[in-house]
Amino acid sequence: MKLSTQLLIDGQFVTGDGQAEPILNPATGELIASVPEASFEQVNRAVNGAQRAFAQWSRTTPASRSTLLLRLADAIERHAEEFAALESLNCGKPYLAVLNDELPAVVDCFRFFAGAARCLQGPLAGEYIEGHTSMIRRDPIGVVGSIAPWNYPLMMAAWKMAPVLAAGNTVVLKPSEQTPLTALRLAELASELFPRGVINIVCGRGESVGAPLVEHPLVRMVSLTGDIATGQKILQSAARTMKRTHLELGGKAPVIIFDDADLEAVVAGIRTFGFYNAGQDCTAACRIYAQGKIYDKFVAAMTDAVASIKVGGPREEGVEMGPLISDRQRNRVASFVERAQSSGHVEVTAGGKIRPGNGFFFEPTLIAHARQEDEIVRREVFGPVVSVTRFTDAEQVVQWANDSDYGLASSVWTRDLGLASKVASHLQYGCTWINTHFMLTSEMPHGGMKMSGYGKDLSLYALEDYTVPRHIMVKL
Ligand code: NAD
Repeated sequence: MKLSTQLLIDGQFVTGDGQAEPILNPATGELIASVPEASFEQVNRAVNGAQRAFAQWSRTTPASRSTLLLRLADAIERHAEEFAALESLNCGKPYLAVLNDELPAVVDCFRFFAGAARCLQGPLAGEYIEGHTSMIRRDPIGVVGSIAPWNYPLMMAAWKMAPVLAAGNTVVLKPSEQTPLTALRLAELASELFPRGVINIVCGRGESVGAPLVEHPLVRMVSLTGDIATGQKILQSAARTMKRTHLELGGKAPVIIFDDADLEAVVAGIRTFGFYNAGQDCTAACRIYAQGKIYDKFVAAMTDAVASIKVGGPREEGVEMGPLISDRQRNRVASFVERAQSSGHVEVTAGGKIRPGNGFFFEPTLIAHARQEDEIVRREVFGPVVSVTRFTDAEQVVQWANDSDYGLASSVWTRDLGLASKVASHLQYGCTWINTHFMLTSEMPHGGMKMSGYGKDLSLYALEDYTVPRHIMVKL
């Protein structure tokens, strides 16, 4: 497989002048490639190139931007197997899951924003002062610095680039230093379609490449998907040049299971939605609240279901869950489980251990009898670990679910849709699913409340986030 390691800066493919970053295969721990990061000067060149390109790109018609986004979607689709192979190599994800779940979502994201670019809406023009006509424009903002995490590298690149470009902005994307390979391949396809400087990809670590991008005075907006602490640093830095910010931060999704829920469906749902991508997902169904009468049955059935998840390398027959992204992440997850066990009152009913051998594997884990005040219930683990807490009534569980710094995703499981709707209306989360979890669609917004951040990915709301409404008034 051909590996692209060059950065895309102002229409040129160049080798990074900074420190080389080792890229590991998480399923074996072996080195796959070494990607030299961008120097300060290269970040500067990328931003300046994006700024020059903005002058023309921002004046293109929505139809012409749409055409290019559709062509890019087609090119990704044609190379779907190659992208899936690269992504599964770099992240350790099951190959077929990337090919069948992530690639179609990536392609659809570009296609959705290609259409959405032509459908922005707003209030009517009119005479709000006699003799004057007012109208609203929605215009692009300028150069957007987009910073992505490692859990879904290509999908996050799509979520970040598609609405930014559709709206007429130019972009400098920084993928995670751990997972740059699919973004670099995407750069090659995109450079054949888009004008010079419209798309720039710079790789490297947060402090050395992300921070100068955020601080650059010509970057007018910064979008981050990442950790809360990173979001806080970016906000502080962005304040100096008054940049717009778009922050998608962590999550700790509550999953509320009422006594009358369909037990089989719940167990199958959590088996998938709690452990997909080895739980390295900000919406993972990781914080279960089960009502008193269903609690014991749920824990027993869920324990068997978790123990049956097939863990292995990306190409293993029937594999359902891969390794964690790094040894560091695995140790972090292991220490969460150890601290939970040391409380004395929880029971690890499935998994709980590092898998011996090569690669950064951790067993799918279920932790029963967790309490609301426990760290395992309150902090994001970002690994294959699901906790279960018993609750008594709807009022208590809504209070517990909302008693969190996070506010990204949640779900309610019951046959009583009236109860589900009432609970959903009281939850302080960007999304509440009823009798499912985790399902995203390009037409609907994804984003958080509270410390999970603000700004929406996907949907027309994302397109609006990357534009600014302007008032034009004509004296008649
Ligand atoms: P991270 O915050 O460590 O890194 C995210 C990106 O920010 C990386 O590209 C990193 O290099 C960059 N970065 C780090 N420090 C920086 C700085 N000072 N200035 C500029 N850039 C900087 O997060 P991660 O470990 O890559 O990803 C996991 C986190 O992302 C989890 O907390 C997870 O919940 C969150 N996440 C959120 C969503 C969402 O949609 N809300 C989606 C996926 C992941």
